[in-house]
Amino acid sequence: MRLVAATVYALRIPFVESFRHSASDRRWSDSVVVRVRDDAGHEGYGEGTPRPYVTGETVETMVDHIAHELWPRVAACEFPEGAGLADISALVPDTRLAGAIAPHATRAAVEIAIVDCHLRRTARSLGAVLPPRRARVTYSGVITAGPIERAARHARQMRAVGLAHVKVKVGFDDDVARITAVREALGPGVSLRLDANGAWTFERAVDVLDAVAPLGIAAVEQPLPRGPVSELARLRQATTVPVMADESVVTLGDADALIAEKAVDFLNVRLSKCGGITRSLAIAARAFDAGVGVQIGSQVGETAILSAAGRHVIATLREVAFAEGSFGTLLLAEDVSVESIRFGHRGEASVLTGPGLGIRVIEERLRQRAVAVRELTAER
Ligand SMILES: [Mg+2]
Repeated sequence: MRLVAATVYALRIPFVESFRHSASDRRWSDSVVVRVRDDAGHEGYGEGTPRPYVTGETVETMVDHIAHELWPRVAACEFPEGAGLADISALVPDTRLAGAIAPHATRAAVEIAIVDCHLRRTARSLGAVLPPRRARVTYSGVITAGPIERAARHARQMRAVGLAHVKVKVGFDDDVARITAVREALGPGVSLRLDANGAWTFERAVDVLDAVAPLGIAAVEQPLPRGPVSELARLRQATTVPVMADESVVTLGDADALIAEKAVDFLNVRLSKCGGITRSLAIAARAFDAGVGVQIGSQVGETAILSAAGRHVIATLREVAFAEGSFGTLLLAEDVSVESIRFGHRGEASVLTGPGLGIRVIEERLRQRAVAVRELTAER
């Protein structure tokens, strides 16, 4: 298989309600979709969600990096007809981007698009190469920052629809009151996690965690900023709340260092920041080997494309402690696929079985929602 053309869409889809946490306040999804076309006319879609505070990428640098670095290199490749995921991933090069930890959102978008295209060429589902171990996956709810009353209201709504797992954004002056109110609204039967997005100091983290540990906290995500792994390891020793790394785990090397230092109980593996399907699976495999749990997700604000890829990864892994994403139109004013991807009652959603990622993308909608569209062709 050879790729002959690509289209890059810089999307800006408004959120139903603004999504705020300690590191950002977003009112629309910033995501970049890539469509590739092969020499037989098959198409595939991929998506990356660049976050300056995670990988160091922005929508602008991502579009530019695809156009100038990644596309010319994958367009020059011959993808063997019988290629597996690892073979495809090996042909998507690791590139460097000034100021970025790694241009992983870029890589994820391109890798996923090629995988989707390659599978569609042979009318296979991603589930054929990543066999699902379960028929449905169960997603978490996420409570964004904002007034405590609103957080409690959202918690009550999530409890009412039967969600089993909820995460609340923290990293503010009122954290203890906020977590207490959310726990009260959820009742004791719902698993509750915290996400500080690196907003706490060591001392603040210990204080808040000491205060809320009796409320039953399943994990605290990224309590400290990305930095020395030893600090996170020290915090893990200082609290009874299980520690999860998010912004601290972008590369396989990050995962190895966190595991070696015994700094985490969980790794939050997200397809976009971790560089795509194969890299995410590799990080998850390292975690399993070390007895570290995984949370699998995409990036809040992703469209059905990244959600679908994430669904396959969640469904195929041996054990997933927590699953995130697939908010679809719970968050986006409009999604981009024919099939609704959003989870339903109890946070459940079925595995996808159609060709490629298992969704049909509405290309016209991508054009409508794009603030920039870049057409690329292969130079032969
Ligand atoms: Mg997080």
